[in-house]
Amino acid sequence: MEWIHPMPKIELHAHLNGSIRDTTLLELARVLGEKGVIVFSDVEDVIQKNDRSLDEVFKLFDLIHMITTDHQTVTRITREVVQDFALENVVYLELRTTPKRNDSIGMSKRSYMEAVIKGLRSISEVDVEFVAATDSEKLHNSCDGVGRKKIYVRLLLSIDRRETTESAMETVKLALEMRNVGVVGIDLSGNPLVGEWNTFLPALQFAKDNDLYITLHCGEVPNPKEIQAMLDFKPHRVGHACFFKDQDWEKLKSFRIPVEICLSSNIITKSISSIDIHHFADLYKAKHPLVICTDDFGVFSTTLSNEYSLAVRSFGLGKRETFALAKSGIDATFAEDEVKQQLGLIFDSASPEYV
Ligand code: 5GP
Repeated sequence: MEWIHPMPKIELHAHLNGSIRDTTLLELARVLGEKGVIVFSDVEDVIQKNDRSLDEVFKLFDLIHMITTDHQTVTRITREVVQDFALENVVYLELRTTPKRNDSIGMSKRSYMEAVIKGLRSISEVDVEFVAATDSEKLHNSCDGVGRKKIYVRLLLSIDRRETTESAMETVKLALEMRNVGVVGIDLSGNPLVGEWNTFLPALQFAKDNDLYITLHCGEVPNPKEIQAMLDFKPHRVGHACFFKDQDWEKLKSFRIPVEICLSSNIITKSISSIDIHHFADLYKAKHPLVICTDDFGVFSTTLSNEYSLAVRSFGLGKRETFALAKSGIDATFAEDEVKQQLGLIFDSASPEYV
């Protein structure tokens, strides 16, 4: 399946800190170990473990955040993650991250996001387009582009389920202020066993009323009431959808809400017991809009090409069908129409290879 790597791809569900390179994480952990902030040998095992329950994944995120949350590191990780996606022929990336406040190092949610933007601006190996094409602030690196990879990047600000209504609202207001630097929407994520839907609803409604796009982590654990409430909110996309019941599928399908499918993540965290019973098959057969995504390519040791290969092997997709599936992701993006058109042209020019 060597044809999957060069195929243009769209990534819509990628968490910044979950997509950190193993090598970078280990390097940063080693430095903190040398400073006596952490015991390196303890964290080395946690980082290198491959099989993790959902609960262990969130423990790992707490560790990752301890290691990565300073401005310089956020900038570095952003640069590396976008480069890694571009080198994999991802042509459009919606990257999500939770703006964090850390008073002890003078970090506010805004300065955290400025560090992310600095990371986007600092990329020189590939062409990055992250501000709306109509914006006067034009992208850096928009040189002749011949032979260089180009990636469109848009940002989603995540609300962590541990946050209060006020804190969630602060994130939404920040997103509104940062629309001119490529922020297009809001994600709700974090440990699904923590927090109540009603805590986040006012901020999410405010976001929606102000034309931000919304995607929700939905149905990662069995919580029928929350799943129904989330679907009634009519988000623009949902991620995971692992513990849906018949009535949830009916609602999802009648509202045509696209689903971000993260195969390895669902299997590794045992949210789905085996790939052959994954809901991808049913949704694909029903021609329901869906997009294959990585979730956290660092944490789950995967790549987007790998996720496509897994789908091809597990569900018997052919080359042409896989290409059509990848291209159909354009409609599920939160990008401006002009970008969608450009993406259509990119896929069209690649299509002779995939018929
Ligand atoms: P960050 O927002 O710090 O860039 O990325 C890591 C954060 O994304 C985690 O702390 C968590 O809140 C969220 N996240 C990453 N992967 C998952 C997942 O599989 N499920 C949920 N619910 N949240 C996740």
